[in-house]
Amino acid sequence: MQYTIPTIVQIVKGKLLQTGTDDVSIDRLLLDSRKVLFPATSLFFALKGDRRNGHSFLLETYEKGVRNFVVSEVPEMELPGANIIQVKDTLTALQTLSIHHRKQFKFPVIGITGSNGKTIVKEWLNQLLEADYSIVKSPKSYNSQIGVPLSVWQMNEQHNLGLFEAGISQSGEMEKLEKIIQPTIGVFTNIGEAHSQGFMSMRQKVNEKLQLFKHVNTLIYCKDYSEINEGIASYLHQFQQAESRPDMKLFDWSVKTSATVRVCSIKKKRNATTIEAEYKGEKISLKVPFIDDASIENAITCWCVLLHENVDQNVIAERMLQLTQVAMRLELKKGTNNCSIINDSYSADISSLKIALDFLAQQQQHAKRTVILSDILQSAESDAELYDLVAKTLKEKHINRLIGIGDHISRHHKSFEKIEGLETHFYPTTEAFKRDFYHYNFTNESILLKGARVFKFEQLSRLLEQKAHQTVLEINLEAFANNLKVYQQLLQPSTKMMAMVKAFSYGSGSYEVANLLQFHKVDYLAVAYADEGVELRKAGITLPIMVMNPEESSYDAIVQFELQPDLFSFQEMQDFDGFLKQQNIKDFPVHVELETGMNRLGFDVQELPLLLDALKNSSFKVQSVFSHLAASEDPNEDEFTRQQGEKFLHACAAIEETLGYKFIKHIANTAGILRHPHLQLDMVRLGIGLYGVDSAETGRLPLQEVSALKTTVAQVKHLHPNDTVGYNRRGKAKENTVIATVRIGYADGYERRLGNGVGKMMIKGNLVPVIGSVCMDMTMIDITNIEDVKEGDEVTVFGNGLSIVNVAKWAGTIPYEIMTGISQRVKRVYFEEG
Ligand SMILES: *Cc1c(COP(=O)(O)O)cnc(C)c1O
Repeated sequence: MQYTIPTIVQIVKGKLLQTGTDDVSIDRLLLDSRKVLFPATSLFFALKGDRRNGHSFLLETYEKGVRNFVVSEVPEMELPGANIIQVKDTLTALQTLSIHHRKQFKFPVIGITGSNGKTIVKEWLNQLLEADYSIVKSPKSYNSQIGVPLSVWQMNEQHNLGLFEAGISQSGEMEKLEKIIQPTIGVFTNIGEAHSQGFMSMRQKVNEKLQLFKHVNTLIYCKDYSEINEGIASYLHQFQQAESRPDMKLFDWSVKTSATVRVCSIKKKRNATTIEAEYKGEKISLKVPFIDDASIENAITCWCVLLHENVDQNVIAERMLQLTQVAMRLELKKGTNNCSIINDSYSADISSLKIALDFLAQQQQHAKRTVILSDILQSAESDAELYDLVAKTLKEKHINRLIGIGDHISRHHKSFEKIEGLETHFYPTTEAFKRDFYHYNFTNESILLKGARVFKFEQLSRLLEQKAHQTVLEINLEAFANNLKVYQQLLQPSTKMMAMVKAFSYGSGSYEVANLLQFHKVDYLAVAYADEGVELRKAGITLPIMVMNPEESSYDAIVQFELQPDLFSFQEMQDFDGFLKQQNIKDFPVHVELETGMNRLGFDVQELPLLLDALKNSSFKVQSVFSHLAASEDPNEDEFTRQQGEKFLHACAAIEETLGYKFIKHIANTAGILRHPHLQLDMVRLGIGLYGVDSAETGRLPLQEVSALKTTVAQVKHLHPNDTVGYNRRGKAKENTVIATVRIGYADGYERRLGNGVGKMMIKGNLVPVIGSVCMDMTMIDITNIEDVKEGDEVTVFGNGLSIVNVAKWAGTIPYEIMTGISQRVKRVYFEEG
């Protein structure tokens, strides 16, 4: 379905500020200037966020060929030939347009909300119903005020079932989402602690979520959450009193009491669970290939939806057995031969392909990009249209090579062969490609693996990924983005942000993290040594990079790779200036560090006159002058911090006067940003906060720790009283004791200080102590009373609920030391929840 500009103007009640090309029909909504794919038929909405204003990207979007815009402010620049629609609020306009679009369709729409399991229930319903329906669904977890309109916008004439999820972070939002989704069937998965911020109570949270179901015919939910059950009762009561709506049918399930579906037993075996229930007076049962409680709950919810849709119980049972774990995230891993692998081998549909391609495009480290793509099984378009669309998308994302696997994609090879610069290969099956695998010689490239489940691409990821020992540091790229935003919100819009990525980004990676920071448009990066900066440049990072310890041997590299040195002593200044003069380089960007109390690096403010003299006749262009706070996190030292700030600003004023031009002034690190807002000045230097640790321990910020260190159980042992554990027999079993040997030791960065009960690790949700001394590559933990621990089970060393702050305290140190001490032999895995 396509819309003309006059129609859109009418729908969003806008004003046409400027008329450009007429005759356009819009079929795509665009919110991000970085994601332009089909400029001619896209409509760009200039949304206003807390910090980023879409209006600043109008020109960039225009230059990429987009000619249709919705704005709330009159653009400052000329956009010849563009249609510009002005509205009061661009987000409201986006939502209004999608509400209108939704109203064009009469097929059933399932609206899903709840604290957990929304995305899994949605994806599983899709797996369970795709044989019977042509489904339109939210891509990944697009469930926000922006994600929902975009999801609903995908609806078209060929669909006959919608699956949309709705998530909210504050009161008042669900009402808007209800208007956009207009669900006819409601699914309330559960209620938990997640996202409690912004709500008053559990009950309020339930009531807010129930707003999604205002107009549904049936509501499916688990009665065992008493808050949900009571919430629904009083919600209905209130309607009945007002006689304002017909009864909504309730379809509930319970393991405790009578319900539409009464679950009688749940029996877990090694890797499957059998669930028995009573429905309409009959005993029914099914088996699911999972044993964890969350999956069982989600499966029962899906079961109810299928029963409600009158799917035959035998068919349900057969499909349930085939359910697969939903890959909730896009993972970036190191491959063999210096490749980067993005593994998204659980689904192939056009919207998730686009998300994965965006993620691939963010990876600047290799010039070459390969996509291995299976048939796309589920689509409303005809095959010919579909593969044309895929081909166009690959072209826009500058993919160099496509390996297509499956009959359908192979049949449409011509769509891809038309694309200039795209090398193509096709195979009927994954097996056929595997036989050819070693001819390809994948080297130094980014590879996206994207395949429908039946193609079993996990076989390919095993071939491509670097084998490493089974201890991994998982790094959540979205948590980075979240933390960055948290701190940006503490700043004035004009204050710049320098992100500290020294020491391998506090242990969490180099270009992987820098790519993300570049994508989110921080202003500066800082590294400790020039070679770290060189590595970033080689990986395609174009942001300005400050080098805090420029050594004479690296001057060449600094100039060649356009890095910017920190100057902190006269000798260094003289050496570098000499180097520049010799090469006839003028106005080279540098940073000047002042000493104000840390007593580490920097020019003493007493030496100011000398410094001014040296700068006057130099070949430098001073980009910034900065100093470092010694105790910004400590309330007892606030007076000292204040004095540091005063000294600094005083010196800056003198330097500015001598130089005759302005430069950036900065002094605040993470704790300074929060605790000393008046020292934010022109720029701040965000370090540990970016990685999710509030060094001031105020507990005031919604930070997410970015990394989780995980290992696995190598062996389980049963000990008798008086048996001992490890070197020098330090660990003692007082009674019958069960221990697990896990694959991490001090060579990985798990400090020896954490031995003998000092440190704890998490297994199956339980915190258990280390027993005996930490060895070089192994550590033993006491798992007495923890049931069912097997070899290969996952053990969390920190992250996922076990804060690195605790581990640091046990070890008698600070999180900085633990983070940067994780050795390089521990494999880093980067992921993004889709
Ligand atoms: C490391 C560093 C920072 C960041 O400090 P955090 O406490 O991690 O925020 C800021 N400035 C300089 C000069 C640094 O060396």
